Amino acid sequence: MSSSASAPPLSPLHMIDLIRKKRDGGSLNAREIGFLVSGAANESIPSDQLAAWLMAAWIRGLSLDEARTLTLAMRDSGEKFSPARLGKTAVDKHSTGGVGDKTSFLIAPLAAACGVAVPMISGRALGHTGGTLDKLEAIPGYRTALTLQEFEAVLMKCGASIISQTKSLVPADRVLYALRDRTGTVESLGLICASILGKKLAAGLDALVLDVKTGSGAFLRKPDDSAYLAALMVATAEAAGTRTVALLTDMGQPLGHAAGNWIELAESVELLRGKRPPESPETNFDLRELSLILAGWMIHLGGQAPTPEAGYSRAEKALTDGSALRAFFAMVEAQGGDISVFDNPSFHKPGATQVVPAWESGFISSMDTTALGWAVQRTGAGREKAGEPGVPGDRSSSLGWESVDPHAGIDFHARRGAHLEKGQPLATLYATSPALLAEPEEILKQAIHFSKTPPQVVPLVSRIFTRESAEAHLRDVVR
Ligand code: URA
Repeated sequence: MSSSASAPPLSPLHMIDLIRKKRDGGSLNAREIGFLVSGAANESIPSDQLAAWLMAAWIRGLSLDEARTLTLAMRDSGEKFSPARLGKTAVDKHSTGGVGDKTSFLIAPLAAACGVAVPMISGRALGHTGGTLDKLEAIPGYRTALTLQEFEAVLMKCGASIISQTKSLVPADRVLYALRDRTGTVESLGLICASILGKKLAAGLDALVLDVKTGSGAFLRKPDDSAYLAALMVATAEAAGTRTVALLTDMGQPLGHAAGNWIELAESVELLRGKRPPESPETNFDLRELSLILAGWMIHLGGQAPTPEAGYSRAEKALTDGSALRAFFAMVEAQGGDISVFDNPSFHKPGATQVVPAWESGFISSMDTTALGWAVQRTGAGREKAGEPGVPGDRSSSLGWESVDPHAGIDFHARRGAHLEKGQPLATLYATSPALLAEPEEILKQAIHFSKTPPQVVPLVSRIFTRESAEAHLRDVVR
């Protein structure tokens, strides 16, 4: 008798049993997770049962093994991209989301200019945070919805490409993520790990740099949660064969001076052109520095520099010699975008503009950056309801997203620690219409705090996890 004939037949799986198991604090095994993920991807499991399981997982948490198995099952749930034909090491960066976080527009061309391929599959605005795709679509003609063949062609030509998730890439995440958004189950460390890494690993990356945000504008407010998520993602991606590093970075204030859609691109190109805002050059110091640090790691992991510090120096050279700017413009043009708008000062046409002066004298001591993110969204730069009606005139209507105002947003003229006199300009609001100015102004007044003495300096990067430190951290936390 053959050994396969002697194996006992596997009993059929039922979603109700998986819900009960998780509800009662059990851990799903690989076969059960595979059943759940393929049932989500092919929509054979009803959404009420998936939602019930997600809530059980949110309440009970996922074990390390479950998080890793779920990540791999998500990765394998659909089509994958292979960067093999690019002939370069493929490295991407992922941020857990922030306000004014536009580093993608800098690090993708910086790394590409240094010989690394950057296949970047990005997302849209989520909650109080902005979305890379929404920002890019502020450039007339820029296409985010490329096929994987078109994606490969842009990468071959320009070294970097930033697109939206395709329908067939990680279909399980499309279903589960939409359900999590509607059922209050987004903020689960294991589910976030599987959702983010499932997509990143499906892009066939050789290496990945994770920018895990901490502070008042991060999705995870507690530094311990950010550290656990960073360690979990590094260890999981490394176990799947992708060299990965995670940096814990400050989101206690917006990054750079602009938060919105077009104004963030304009700020990024300003920096790529070597310009700083003349009235307050320090307002984008952190954006420049963080972009160079992240790009330095990408260049190092991509084999183009022996250390991250040497990668930083290469990135800085690409910034100052104009090669990163050329790589950015090449990518925008290859994806149909009109780069002439970057030389046209009258392109930026917000429906209403208003300067908000400082309402008292003193040092800016702290900011509720999540509230500031909502203020940005309320100017018209974000959506009321993610996943609602399609964009008029298409470009992404297949994804079912409402449109955003490309010209809305907020320019912050001062950073935490700056001293302002009452009446000095603190921010400029750009809204879709005059009616949308009052709410963001009110939010700003509640969210920005002044003090008589300067606040403590917060480091831009507080911690770095590599494979070894991530595994050690997980051992310590689980013990
Ligand atoms: N971004 C994702 O893609 N997934 C999450 O779960 C959270 C942020």
